[in-house]
Amino acid sequence: MTFSHDVVIVGAGGAGLMAALYAKEGGADVGVVSKLHPLRSHTGAAQGGIGAALGNMEEDSWLWHAFDTVKGSDYVGDQDAIETMCKDAPRTIVELEHYGVPFSRNKEGKISQRRFGGHTRNFGEAPVRRACHAADRTGHTILHTLYDQCLKNDVRFYDEFQVLDLIMNDDDECAGVVAYEILTGEIHTFHAKTVCFATGGFGRAFKTTSNAHAGTGDGMSIFLRNGLPLEDMEFVQFHPTGLYRLGILITEGARGEGGILRNSDGERFMERYAPTVKDLAPRDLVSQCIYQEIRQGRGIKGKEYVHLDMTHVGSEILEKKLPEITMFSRTYLGVDPLKEPIPVAPTAHYAMGGIPTDYDGRVEIGQRGDIMPGLYAAGECACVSVHGANRLGTNSLLELVVFGRRAGMAMAKEVKEGKDFAAMPDNPEQRTRDMLDTILSRNDGEPVVNVRNDLQETMMDNVSVFRNDETLTTALDDLQELRERANNVVVRDKGKKFNTELMDAVEIQFMVDYAEAVAASAHHRTESRGAHSREDFPKRNDDDWLQHTLFHSDGKGNFEFGRKEVAITRFQPKERKY
Ligand SMILES: Cc1cc2nc3c(=O)[nH]c(=O)nc-3n(C[C@H](O)[C@H](O)[C@H](O)COP(=O)(O)OP(=O)(O)OC[C@H]3O[C@@H](n4cnc5c(N)ncnc54)[C@H](O)[C@@H]3O)c2cc1C
Repeated sequence: MTFSHDVVIVGAGGAGLMAALYAKEGGADVGVVSKLHPLRSHTGAAQGGIGAALGNMEEDSWLWHAFDTVKGSDYVGDQDAIETMCKDAPRTIVELEHYGVPFSRNKEGKISQRRFGGHTRNFGEAPVRRACHAADRTGHTILHTLYDQCLKNDVRFYDEFQVLDLIMNDDDECAGVVAYEILTGEIHTFHAKTVCFATGGFGRAFKTTSNAHAGTGDGMSIFLRNGLPLEDMEFVQFHPTGLYRLGILITEGARGEGGILRNSDGERFMERYAPTVKDLAPRDLVSQCIYQEIRQGRGIKGKEYVHLDMTHVGSEILEKKLPEITMFSRTYLGVDPLKEPIPVAPTAHYAMGGIPTDYDGRVEIGQRGDIMPGLYAAGECACVSVHGANRLGTNSLLELVVFGRRAGMAMAKEVKEGKDFAAMPDNPEQRTRDMLDTILSRNDGEPVVNVRNDLQETMMDNVSVFRNDETLTTALDDLQELRERANNVVVRDKGKKFNTELMDAVEIQFMVDYAEAVAASAHHRTESRGAHSREDFPKRNDDDWLQHTLFHSDGKGNFEFGRKEVAITRFQPKERKY
C-alpha cells in the first residue's frame, strides 16, 4: 500500500513524538512509523533526569549549563546549538509539566533537581543541582505523557512498521520511506513532503550495553546506504555504572544523591583523578578511571569491576528517589544497596555521533548549511552536535524535546510554505523486496545470532573505552569478514506473520554498516578527545582535530572521510580539568 502524509516521522521515542506534536500543531498532517509500540521506545528507560537551569534548589544559569556542556563535549560540540538548547531548557521543562509529566517535588513544591556528572555552578566551581526528575523514571513519564498528547492531537501511528529504506528520486530529493509491516509481512510505501528520522541509538553493537534490544541503529545505516554521511561516529559513550556483567544501567543520579565509587582498597579513587567534582566527573573520565583502577590491580577481587557504595545514603533517598535502580540491584544481582555496595563496570550507553543536522533538525550532507531539502533527523540518531565528544548526563532527554520540537516546527513551516510531495521514482520498494527475497530464499548459512555475538564481541574488545591502532585494525578486519557473514545468514522462518527472525537478519546487516563507521572513524581520529581515548595518541590535538568527522561509505566496505568545522561562539578551547 501507499500511505501519504505531509510529514512522516520514523521513530516514536521522545524525539519522534515531540516532532510529531509540533508538526501537527503547525498544521501538518503527520504519520509516525515505528518498529516498536511507541511506549516501548528506549526513552522509557531513561532514569536519572533532564537538565535545565531552573535554579529551584540553588542559583543556576543557562550560561553555566552551556559552559558545562561545551567543556563536557571536550570543545568539539557546536556552541550555537548548545546555546540554543540550554537557553530553551527551562521553558521546555515547564511545557513538559503542563503536558502532564509528574516531576518529583522539593520541599517548597517546586520541581526537584539533583546533581549529575559535569554539571557545575559558576563555570566549574562545584557541582550544582540541575537534573529535573520524576523519581528515577524520568524518561518513562516523559514518553507516556508525549504519547498521550499525540493521541489527543490525532497524530496517526503506524505501530510495528519497520522502515528499511529511504526513497530518493532522480533529482536527489527524499520522497518518503519504505516500511515492512511486522504483523503481516507486507511492504508499504510512505510518500511524504518531509521525512524526519528519530530512530535512536546503537548500543546493541556492543556486548555489554545499557540499551534495549531494538537499539540497532537502523536509521544511521539506511542513511549510509543512500549515500549520506554520518558525523562523529567515533564518539561512543560508555556509562561508568552498569551492573557488572549485565550492563543494566544504574543512573548517575545515584552518585548525584551521594553514591561513591570505591576500588578494592575501599578507596574513593575519583578524589585522585577529579579533586573538585570527584564522583560527579563526566562519564568519559569516570569510565577511563575505572578501567585505570582495574588495570592497576584494584578491581574488586581482581575482577573487572568496582563498587558503587550507597550504604551511607539512607533508605529514604534509595526508596523514594532511586526506587528503580534499588530494585534492579536487588533483582538482578541479589545485592541490597542499603546494606552492601553494588558491583559496577562501564557499559556501552550512548551514540554522540549520527546523522548530521543543523539546529532545526535539517539534515546536512556536507558543510554547514549544505541541506538536503525535506529531510530531517532528531534525537539520539542525529548529531546536532550538542554533545561533541562526550555527552553530559540529562542532556539527551533535553536534546530530544528541544530539537524534536524545532524539527517539528521547521517541517510544519516548510509544508505551510508550499513544499509539495517530491516525485516518486519507479518501483520505490524494489530494493527492499530484493533484499528480503534474497534472505528468504537462502536455505543454508549461519544463524544471525552467531554473527551478532561475534560483532558485539569484537566491538566490545577493540572499540571500547581505550582504543589503539592495533585494536581498531583488528576490529576493521573482523568487520570485513562479518559483513560477508551477515550477507549470508539463513532464517528458518519463511512466514509472513511476525517474522522477527527476518528483521534480525536485516538488522545484522545494518549493524555491520554502522559498526564499521564507528571503528573506521575511531581509527581515523589520531588524537584523544572526550570518550575517544587513543592509547597511541593520548593527547588532545586541537591544531589538527578540532573538527567533526564525516564518514561516507558505499555499504560494501569502501569508505572515505570528510571534515566539518566546529561552531565556536563564546568558549575558547581550554585544557579540561575537573
Ligand atoms: C537505560 C538508559 C537510561 C538513560 N537515562 C537517561 C537520563 O536519565 N537522562 C538523559 O538525558 N538521557 C538518558 N538516556 C539516554 C536517552 O534516554 C536516549 O538517548 C533517548 O531516549 C533516545 O531517544 P530517541 O527518541 O532518540 O530514541 P528512542 O527512544 O530510542 O526511540 C527510537 C524509536 O525509533 C524506532 N525505530 C528504530 N528503528 C526503526 C526502524 N527501522 N523503523 C521504524 N522505527 C524504528 C523505535 O521503534 C523507537 O520508537 C538513557 C538511556 C538509557 C539506555
